[in-house]
Amino acid sequence: MTLQEKIKLLGGTGFTTQPIKRLGIPAMKMCDGPLGSRMKITKKGVQGGGLATNFSAPIAMAATWDDSLIQAVGQAIGAETRAKGFDVILAPCINIARVPVGGRTFEAFGEDPFLVSRMTVAYVKGVQSQRVVATTKHYVANNQEKYRTLASSNVSERALREIYFPAFKAAVQEANTRAIMASYNKINGDYACANHYLLTDVLKKEWGFTGLAMSDWGAVHSTIKTANAGLDLEMPRARYLNRKLLEAVKRGQVKEATINDKVRRILRVEFEAGLFDHPPKTYPSAVDTASHDSLALKVAREAIVLLKNSGHLLPLKRDSLRSIAVIGPNAKEAIISAGGSAYLDSYKKVSPLEGIREKVGNQIAVRYAPGTQLETNALPPIPAKFLFPPKRNQQKHGLLGEYFNNPNLEGKPVLTRLDSTVYFNWHGGSPAPIVHPDNFSARWTGFYLPPKSGTFQIGVSSDDGFRLFVNGKLFLEDWRDHGRELKSKPIQLVKGKRVALRLEYYEHGGGAAAQLGISTITQGKDLRDAVRLAKESDAVILCAGLNKSLEGEGHDRSTLDLPTDQEKLIRAVSAVNPKTVVVLNNGTPLTMAHWLNGVPAVLEAWYTGQETGTALADVIFGDVNPSGKLPLTFPKSWDDSPVAKTYPGTEKATDYKEGVYVGYRYYDHKHIQPLFPFGYGLSYTTFDYSDLKINPTTVSKTGTFSISLSVKNSGDFSGDEIVQLYIHQNNPDLDRPPKELKAFKRVHLVPGQSKQVVFQLHARDLGYFDPSKKAWVVEPDSYKILIGKSSRDIQ
Ligand code: BGC
Repeated sequence: MTLQEKIKLLGGTGFTTQPIKRLGIPAMKMCDGPLGSRMKITKKGVQGGGLATNFSAPIAMAATWDDSLIQAVGQAIGAETRAKGFDVILAPCINIARVPVGGRTFEAFGEDPFLVSRMTVAYVKGVQSQRVVATTKHYVANNQEKYRTLASSNVSERALREIYFPAFKAAVQEANTRAIMASYNKINGDYACANHYLLTDVLKKEWGFTGLAMSDWGAVHSTIKTANAGLDLEMPRARYLNRKLLEAVKRGQVKEATINDKVRRILRVEFEAGLFDHPPKTYPSAVDTASHDSLALKVAREAIVLLKNSGHLLPLKRDSLRSIAVIGPNAKEAIISAGGSAYLDSYKKVSPLEGIREKVGNQIAVRYAPGTQLETNALPPIPAKFLFPPKRNQQKHGLLGEYFNNPNLEGKPVLTRLDSTVYFNWHGGSPAPIVHPDNFSARWTGFYLPPKSGTFQIGVSSDDGFRLFVNGKLFLEDWRDHGRELKSKPIQLVKGKRVALRLEYYEHGGGAAAQLGISTITQGKDLRDAVRLAKESDAVILCAGLNKSLEGEGHDRSTLDLPTDQEKLIRAVSAVNPKTVVVLNNGTPLTMAHWLNGVPAVLEAWYTGQETGTALADVIFGDVNPSGKLPLTFPKSWDDSPVAKTYPGTEKATDYKEGVYVGYRYYDHKHIQPLFPFGYGLSYTTFDYSDLKINPTTVSKTGTFSISLSVKNSGDFSGDEIVQLYIHQNNPDLDRPPKELKAFKRVHLVPGQSKQVVFQLHARDLGYFDPSKKAWVVEPDSYKILIGKSSRDIQ
């Protein structure tokens, strides 16, 4: 290869690497995950919006605590990815749930490094068994969306080693992940993509990673530093690892040997993935198969967590009910995923309403009321037919759009056009090739002719800043860098009385969106109808929660509460019907102070993918025992959380002051009672633990020991129990969390059945990272082995 050819290989073009025709090196095609294979290959190349089996959000996968199931899921996702013609999937996402409002928490496996590691290894092994490259992401300490492309995660080495590294290390050493994606943020001052310590010292030298390290999309900010730090591939295009790199090599600032290493890594992965001898062909019949559907159903069933069940309201007994009200904004539509680059649409999806109707047939009357509208982070668009450009022309509809290649609407526009509505989500792209994707501004001007009189809510959802002028006056403003957010305000309109509009907007890095919308406020009637229906029905299933607008990549949630209209709905409905079951969709914890006391039963249904309604009905009516357990703590309030005082930090830095006290480690350490602890989940049956044995009870530093116990299903229902093993060191030299998860097992038991559960531990599992020694230490001491049904229910 010539030096030019080598360098060409180091920068992508969209979702592929650049092919080198002269040498027969094909383009390596990549597809986003992790809920399934979410892209498609068309004549225009790799594009979003593909369909695939939706296997549940990873947070739900983690709630199954069933790593063999998740390996099967990985295998199915790998098979679909390959069948669609891809070589690489940009998954799994394994960032630790450090911040309770974190927008991408749904995409990953929760707060505990051990649980996350087991899920990661399973997923990666499954995917790669299909000769598809898994891209374990985002390396590392990429734990919030706010300032994700700017701030430095300032985190101690001990916290990196104990909390943030383990799952990446396991992905490399146990599952042989062939790719790693370096994150957007900085870590201790250096961008992840230009961080020599992370990419070279730890990942490649210490852990022995032989695959390729790629950048997140647009996460590279320098040429020489990035190349020398150990990044191999810049995505989605070579903005820095291009001619500038060629010149740097010629000047001796980057060695050709460094380039060769990168090329070798990329080619090695391409050979391993079969790009040369077994290029993937498309097999549409291997996507969306009956066996994948039933696997998706199994995940959904196993993931649902029973949070509350006063008076054994659940399971509902079909024989004793004549009517059921299905209420709520999340009832009629299956809420299969939160939003962003992970959002995956599926061929089919079963909503809660459909799942319940299917389950009860004609036996029970099922009626539906929304109660409130599905809240989104954008208002509905203003239809083009009511919009007119400034020089009014009845033939033309829309607003005049002027686009500038600078953030301040300066100089002459590079593009002027008529936009029929302003309702754009360019993600990381730009409005047109001539407009710079990460640094542009736009102005839209014209008129709105209201079709009705009344009070309306008008607003703009944007990423980044905007200003909206109505009749020449500033009406709404949010002129600063931020992820997707909606700002709106009521406005009085008179039918036919035209309103002059001017919207100004700028984009500065990452996602880009500008959506001007309008809506009426209608909850009053929806609420009254829902309450009436609840009164008339024998039981209520109230489907509440978040959705792809309220939660997802690019923005953290602004509160842990449910939207206020939903809280109001839950209070009003449960006040008139004592048999109210609340079902929740969310990937991050919810606080429930305003409504939980009045509600007898609550099911955590996450985003359980395409089969969500079927699985839910199975659990509600007792065909499946709820056996999932929380992979993250639900605090009582934001103020209780480990990051209450440090989040979000500033554009410059987020200080990980809590150190290793992440998730339950913090609540235990500070003696704070959470709303629902890590590892928690109720069941329709009961399990008894007995005969705990540890053998041997004294062990050398290099020794192993086993722990066994007997678990019995002492209730009336068949079901699974998730047995959790935590350790506690009695007298550590350094402060240490009171409890750390080290093993778990999911076991199925029919009523009356007992099983022996055996765990094998190594003495090194008892250790912690001592920063002064720069090493893991296992201190001579006594330790406790804690066997629990949750982190707060130690048996
Ligand atoms: C996300 C990645 C994703 C990439 C490509 C980025 O914005 O952070 O997780 O794989 O886009 O869509």
